[in-house]
Amino acid sequence: MADPLDDAAVAGDALMRVASAAGGYLDSLAGRPVLDHDALGMLAGLGGALPDAGAGTAGTVDRLIDIGTAAGTASSGPRFYHLVIGGVTPAALAADWLASLLDQNAYGRVSSPFATEVETVALGWLRELFGLPEGWGGALVASATFANFTGLGCATQWWGERLGADTVGDGLAGLPRMPVLSGGYLHASARKALQMLGHGRNAAETFPADATGRVDLASMRRRLDELGGRPAVIIGNAGEVNTGDFDPIAALADLAAEYGCWLHVDGAFGLFAALSPRTEHLVEGIERADSIAADAHKWLNVPYESGFALIKDPARLGRAFGMPGAPYLPAPDDPAGGHAPFGPESSRRARALPIWATLAAYGRDGYRAMVERHLDLAQRLKRHVDESPELERLAEVPLCIVCFRARPEGVPEEGLDDFNRRLGAAIVADGRFLAGTTVHAGKVALRPAIVNWRTTDRDVDLFAATVKELVDNMINK
Ligand SMILES: *Cc1c(COP(=O)(O)O)cnc(C)c1O
Repeated sequence: MADPLDDAAVAGDALMRVASAAGGYLDSLAGRPVLDHDALGMLAGLGGALPDAGAGTAGTVDRLIDIGTAAGTASSGPRFYHLVIGGVTPAALAADWLASLLDQNAYGRVSSPFATEVETVALGWLRELFGLPEGWGGALVASATFANFTGLGCATQWWGERLGADTVGDGLAGLPRMPVLSGGYLHASARKALQMLGHGRNAAETFPADATGRVDLASMRRRLDELGGRPAVIIGNAGEVNTGDFDPIAALADLAAEYGCWLHVDGAFGLFAALSPRTEHLVEGIERADSIAADAHKWLNVPYESGFALIKDPARLGRAFGMPGAPYLPAPDDPAGGHAPFGPESSRRARALPIWATLAAYGRDGYRAMVERHLDLAQRLKRHVDESPELERLAEVPLCIVCFRARPEGVPEEGLDDFNRRLGAAIVADGRFLAGTTVHAGKVALRPAIVNWRTTDRDVDLFAATVKELVDNMINK
């Protein structure tokens, strides 16, 4: 095979091959191991030298399906609790395929009025879903890392303006360092965003009250006093990854208002607390933020890569990310031109399609029901932990994460970190579930996060039983 043109007629057939594999794969997710270590040997079949003559469409697609469905991580299934990983709702999955089929460039109206309109509606629906006031705008980006980048990019432009400087045109050279204050829950990706924006990741000063990282508002206030009215950025953390705990957003908004700061909130998954009356108090005051970062590929359960930033004054997006100097494009400050000039990317896939489809398909009520099911599942897992003498819970369970460790009889305190690290490795090696270790308040811990729409009581019960089984095996070895 030399030229894709020779295979033009089989493009539809290639998609059918994926579609034929899809049903069986999706059905297998409920019971299959998350990681099939035996199948990982198949990865060798991907390599070799770049072929001169290609194998053609059908054979190549079949090969990738075979390897992928066997050796891929079943993280879209109900038993992956490492990191914070959602699955893909049926409507989102189909819409994502459609996005590839149509291959729209969601740059703007000039490339696709369709993708632009879907994105406009999707952004509006996200704003409504989280109960933010009219007038807020946003950007669909690749991830929460990029959403943090987007919010903090707007903050940087705002900060420059306050100093009488044009950071967007002239950069940061010659300016003092932008003060960035946060509690100890600050996510590494917010630091990475500061690093990419040229502030350096060490620009963030954290004010933890204790070893968990809980924010110390009094010491943050002292630092703001010290800054003597110089413009500063506060980062609030709505949903910390070890425990799902929240900074007091309303109190941070008070500080931001009092000292004239920009408030950015990282709500990658925690923003979804707004969907249930049971948890909405956790994000109280978030509408007083200037920018919010979140992920759709986590709790909204749409495919990667799907983050979003929501911005109170959407004109800031154009000021921070507009791209002048391309006379063939619409003016960078023209909202009618489309969405790319209002975010960090230019050409983009139509990532709004799955967001639009899943919100259209399941609505506000469907998402509230899903989030509340996950809250219940986390409480169920918490009960399992509390009722198991060999397990010790290390934190409250305000949302969807249960932070705990094994503490079996006979293992001394100083041996627990090592024991739990080995337990984490045993869970990965076992493969039935996936949950990683972290360090919480100085202790090695597991912190399963439940945000997949497929996860049920049965999965959570089996997970608890599996952890206890692995602990028993380690003790009795
Ligand atoms: C997951 C996460 C991020 C980063 O998200 P990506 O989509 O992986 O870039 C940022 N902040 C928090 C709190 C997160 O949980």
